[in-house]
Amino acid sequence: MENTCNCGFYPTIVVPGIGNCKAFEVDENGNRLRSAWPPDIDPAAMKKLKNALIFPAIRMFVLRHDLGFTKKTGQALAEALDALVSNPDGQYKHNIQVEKYDDSLAKCSEKDRGFIYRMLPLKPLGLEIGEDHLFYFAFTPIGNTLDSVERLRAFIQMVKEKTGHTKVNLAAVSLGATITTAYLDTYVSDGDINRVVGVVPAFDGSMTVSDIMKGNIVYDDYETLFVELMGKKNAAKVIKVTKLLPKKVLRKFIQTVVETIVNTVIVNSSTMGGLVPAHEYEQLSKKLIGDPAHAKLKEETDRWWRARADFPALIAKARKSGTEVFSLCGYNVQLFKIVTSDKVSSDMVVHSASESMHAHFAPLGETFGADYKQQNTNCKNTAHNHINPQNDVDASVGAIPDTTWYWRNSEHEQTAENMQMLDLMKFLLKNDQIKDVFQDPAYPQFNEFVREKK
Ligand SMILES: [Zn+2]
Ligand SMILES: [Zn+2]
Repeated sequence: MENTCNCGFYPTIVVPGIGNCKAFEVDENGNRLRSAWPPDIDPAAMKKLKNALIFPAIRMFVLRHDLGFTKKTGQALAEALDALVSNPDGQYKHNIQVEKYDDSLAKCSEKDRGFIYRMLPLKPLGLEIGEDHLFYFAFTPIGNTLDSVERLRAFIQMVKEKTGHTKVNLAAVSLGATITTAYLDTYVSDGDINRVVGVVPAFDGSMTVSDIMKGNIVYDDYETLFVELMGKKNAAKVIKVTKLLPKKVLRKFIQTVVETIVNTVIVNSSTMGGLVPAHEYEQLSKKLIGDPAHAKLKEETDRWWRARADFPALIAKARKSGTEVFSLCGYNVQLFKIVTSDKVSSDMVVHSASESMHAHFAPLGETFGADYKQQNTNCKNTAHNHINPQNDVDASVGAIPDTTWYWRNSEHEQTAENMQMLDLMKFLLKNDQIKDVFQDPAYPQFNEFVREKK
């Protein structure tokens, strides 16, 4: 295929984050039955949940002991979240379809365009490269990574044909980076990708997720935890129940809710498995999916784990195929207070070592100390300084030291307000002008996030 569009830009495909896609259960004719993502405990299931709980609840309230109440809760909750459940082989239990956007932002419906721009601040990029060069790849967040990767590969071909370009850029946002990592591992040698720009990317998962999977949760902040696990609306329903519980039952109830969601929804999804950081994967996967029933799933998640464990090898493979990788990270914020890893530098949702492909960070509130020497693990140019002014980040240890930018105190959920980061994202995706952190004084490697006054 030849490049038939001479606009001078690259088409961009956005691979979005966990909250940025919609999925539905459909019947054999493709009719939508119910929402699978975002999760929706429908009124009928809620009624069933309440009915199932009446007798155990009465016994529990009278006798002030659990007496099977939390067990019943777990069963009822699992049933209520049924649309999201995958089987041990890593495939959905039901027929789940993601809402797709198979055309550019210029050509998709007003409603879809509105949805996409509400999800991510992409308008400035659309204005630069043209909305006919901007595409949105939707996938099921609690789903199967290999399926998403195959669909992404086909999507890339579609974009090439529609735009007349031989290569595209990928913007990997948050969870979208786990799909992108798996894509690079599998298909980067197709030679279809010019640049990957990670935006607060979970390249190596999130310790928030592994902590939740390990049960390392902070019980005091369980309301926030529930909101994160099942969305505001559903959480409100479940929190209502907790207000009636005796104290000694409450802790067990929280534990049951978390375990139920982990065991029914998270464990059997290879995309969620991709959120377990490489350094924790071996132990956790052995515990959760080490049995014969999960063998096929584990074979897949093992593969993505090996890719995440050795980013320098993945980057070398990408470069060989003409693909450059960039990352825009937040750091110096405590992980979500719902989990126990509280000394880890993060953007609150994703730990910064993941976003930076394994750069080195001092524990929160500490520095490396005066004697620390830059390690130059992945940057051999001794003239480069990759240590930040505060002496708590050594970017030279990350897999892409010369193309990773850092924002101190930038929170994941505030990314839409980080104008400097978004501007840089736009320039990196627009053309190949900015090549590394040393080139443009407006975008040095280390930055401070300052919220604009409204
Ligand atoms: Zn073009
Ligand atoms: Zn360097």
